[in-house]
Amino acid sequence: MIDKKYLTSDFRELPYWWDKAPLVVEQQVDLPATADVAIVGSGFSGLSAALTLARAGKRVVVIDAEDCGYGASRRNAGFLGRTLKRSHEWLAKHHSEQYADTVYKELNEALHLVEQVVDEEGIDCFRTTCGRFIGATSPAHFKLLEKELSRNRQVLGSDYQMISKEEQHREIKTDVYFGGAVIPDLGSIHPGLYHDGLLRKAREAGVVFLGRTNVLGISSAATGHSVTTTRGKIKASHVVIGTNGYSSDLMPWLHRRIIPFTGYIIATEVLPQGKLEELLPNRRTYLETVMNINFIRPAPDTNRILFGGLTGTNVPGPLDLADQLRNIMLKILPDLGADVRLSHAWSGKCGGTFDFMPHIGVKDGVHYAMGYNFAGVPMGTYLGRKMALKILGDKAGDSIFESFNFPSMPFYHGNPWFVPMAMKMFDMKDRWIALVG
Ligand SMILES: Cc1cc2nc3c(=O)[nH]c(=O)nc-3n(C[C@H](O)[C@H](O)[C@H](O)COP(=O)(O)OP(=O)(O)OC[C@H]3O[C@@H](n4cnc5c(N)ncnc54)[C@H](O)[C@@H]3O)c2cc1C
Repeated sequence: MIDKKYLTSDFRELPYWWDKAPLVVEQQVDLPATADVAIVGSGFSGLSAALTLARAGKRVVVIDAEDCGYGASRRNAGFLGRTLKRSHEWLAKHHSEQYADTVYKELNEALHLVEQVVDEEGIDCFRTTCGRFIGATSPAHFKLLEKELSRNRQVLGSDYQMISKEEQHREIKTDVYFGGAVIPDLGSIHPGLYHDGLLRKAREAGVVFLGRTNVLGISSAATGHSVTTTRGKIKASHVVIGTNGYSSDLMPWLHRRIIPFTGYIIATEVLPQGKLEELLPNRRTYLETVMNINFIRPAPDTNRILFGGLTGTNVPGPLDLADQLRNIMLKILPDLGADVRLSHAWSGKCGGTFDFMPHIGVKDGVHYAMGYNFAGVPMGTYLGRKMALKILGDKAGDSIFESFNFPSMPFYHGNPWFVPMAMKMFDMKDRWIALVG
């Protein structure tokens, strides 16, 4: 457990984002007896679907077991990217070139959709195209990174710049990386304010929000669905599930396909004037070449650093990891100063999949989108909208992410006991790459 001297007097074991965007406690409105669309989950997936449907004239209810925004959407790091655990090369080899192109084209569309939504809706959430620095954790990883980015430039036209170890301090004041790369067109947001803005827009469009209402069951018939909640039943023509890492056995078929794992973030106290500029001069987002990443970003609104890592570790709460995270952060950024204190520590649940791909589809008449594998800010927004377009019968709702078989594993029923072991295996694999290239 962390020594209290490393915590500020106003330390909170809550997301930093909730300072500016606290959770919305909905007034308990009566449960509507009917709706055109009932949406389970009030994160980016649910809200993006809700907004599109309500603007098309549908009566929409969004139901969340907790206060609206409780899930990962108000807890993440706010990195905006085209992030996928499968490279273009891997997809081309195991599927086809065209398949890989389409996947990466859609990832790009997802990134631009967030930019477009934020700008067109006028959501004040510190959206910026700050660029991303990817730190190479070994010379072999540097080479692999260069190979992957060079291929991406060739086939997708995406820009990048390699940064040698000697030049690295221009990007981040650390000596732990063996150089890296900058991808200039990636960005960041304040996820709390982005979520808050989407929620406000959805409410203005007529969406009814039912917070603190757990969905217990969905029964489907040719005439529609009956959604049983802790506060009664709703009859709906369509049901959408956007529960990602918070999925329960509400739909056992989905539960058998989603691997919930926990992500952790800490925030430093406000740093002395000039410190942030010294450590992260270009105020980008920062992550690493390995599977089990550490990630860093400046807070968009105050002079502090947010740091994440130890993903998938099983502990009772984020405070149990605060000391370890702080030590890793200091190893990467020693000039933060050994006395640096933390103001926040928090966690959130992500949704992994056995094939590392996001999925969208319809099962037993129920629409779902999930499995974002740590990249759900763009993908939740994007696939949420796709689900809505599908319901509206619009061809624009088609997506390559629909075409993948959604795999499970024998004997897996939603208990992700193997995640810490899998993370260790990823670490071993990355150590092997570092050794032999
Ligand atoms: C620490 C962390 C850092 C991350 N960093 C990034 C990042 O930088 N960039 C990025 O792109 N992605 C990131 N992600 C991933 C991203 O936050 C998620 O993929 C995305 O927010 C998922 O959105 P969602 O709407 O699908 O689900 P969520 O936002 O998780 O919402 C699911 C909701 O469903 C509700 N729910 C579940 N079951 C029921 C039920 N039976 N009845 C009613 N309600 C129910 C839950 O209460 C919850 O509110 C991060 C995630 C974490 C945890």
